[in-house]
Amino acid sequence: MSTKKIAKELSLDSAEFRVRQAGEWLGLEDGLIETIIAPRRVLEVSIPFRRDNGNRDHLVGWRVHHNTTRGPAKGGIRYHPGVTRDEVVALAIGMSLKTAIMNLPLGGAKGGIAIDPKVLSIGELERITRRYVSELIPFLGPDKDVPAPDVGTNSQVMAWILDQYSASVGHIVPGVVTGKPIELGGSLGRESATGRGVVEAASLACEKIGMSLSGSRIAIQGYGQVGAWAARLADARGAKIVALADAGGSIHKSNGIDIASVDRKIREGAKSVIETGAGELIGKGLKGASSIFEIDCDMLMPCALGDAVDEHIANEIKARLVVEGANGPLTPKADEVLQSRNIIVVPDVYANAGGVTCSYLEQCQNFAHLSWNEDEVNEKVISLMQGAFNRLHSFSTENKLAYRLAASVLGVKTIADSHRMRGLHP
Ligand code: GLU
Repeated sequence: MSTKKIAKELSLDSAEFRVRQAGEWLGLEDGLIETIIAPRRVLEVSIPFRRDNGNRDHLVGWRVHHNTTRGPAKGGIRYHPGVTRDEVVALAIGMSLKTAIMNLPLGGAKGGIAIDPKVLSIGELERITRRYVSELIPFLGPDKDVPAPDVGTNSQVMAWILDQYSASVGHIVPGVVTGKPIELGGSLGRESATGRGVVEAASLACEKIGMSLSGSRIAIQGYGQVGAWAARLADARGAKIVALADAGGSIHKSNGIDIASVDRKIREGAKSVIETGAGELIGKGLKGASSIFEIDCDMLMPCALGDAVDEHIANEIKARLVVEGANGPLTPKADEVLQSRNIIVVPDVYANAGGVTCSYLEQCQNFAHLSWNEDEVNEKVISLMQGAFNRLHSFSTENKLAYRLAASVLGVKTIADSHRMRGLHP
């Protein structure tokens, strides 16, 4: 199946650079830094499948177990035309840091297939997913590797994975995936968890610079699961969403976009935020979507794909605070520019960790055969996000490090300590 590459892949160099920089800051021996950078295993699998028209087609898929020293490999599966092996490795490195920073007893993983789910039928998606999973069965399981949704996948995809895995072992295993439907053991609050965490991270970081979430003007790039929930929850907490962007383009309204009306228009069939009439059009298409970064606002939340902001765009940013809802939205050079301009960045490995934190809570419920109500889940997510922010902020202040490096150092230190304690075999 030929897939046109339409997005820049998240750079593996950036992910490796961040681990190396943290390892060097900690004074770790080179060999240990290399061990922490290297994925534990990279699985590349062949996915032959039948198109609806009867033709046979073929894809390649990946699943990367990055670090498994502290717990089972954990991370989402991405369906997007831009997916490459290196991008999946980079995203898996991010997951290892995320679970370590949040102190969750999990490792890091990621999976992906270079497909555009929007142009495939539901039947084709199901056949692709089942064949991909069937190749991974020996490496999956609640104690080995636990997938979750990511860009282009959802609870339905998780249900197929659960079914394919359960059929192969002979009994239902709800803990093999997270982000699954509630009816199959999914957790209440999982859909909104990443966006909820992003908004909480924003609010905590605001307080430290004398700003308040309520009343602040926010621009959000990306209106998928993360961006849309961040918009709804920030709006509910009194912030003004002054600009929104998705692949269709970007819109602006200086006295605040009516988020409920955007959602209503999307439910009624609008394909993009620009078709909702909720704000003035500032740019069309993917190129027009990046006009959002130049908008006058207090806070920017990039919630779409990796490498969206390079050093040139970083120079145009007006916000005082950038909160990374996506994985890897800023290149290391963009990061340097923002730091030199005293713009605070709350990095992905902490800011968007609400999703995997809720995944962990979903597994806790599965293992204990119980289900918490939505308020209980949300409170636990918020409390874990607050605890991690306190550790991050103290570490960053004590060591005079930007949040980005402080977060990488905290994550790498946790992983390095566990490697040392376990020792090296043989
Ligand atoms: N895909 C999400 C992330 O990048 C969630 C991963 C998970 O819940 O395992 O953090």
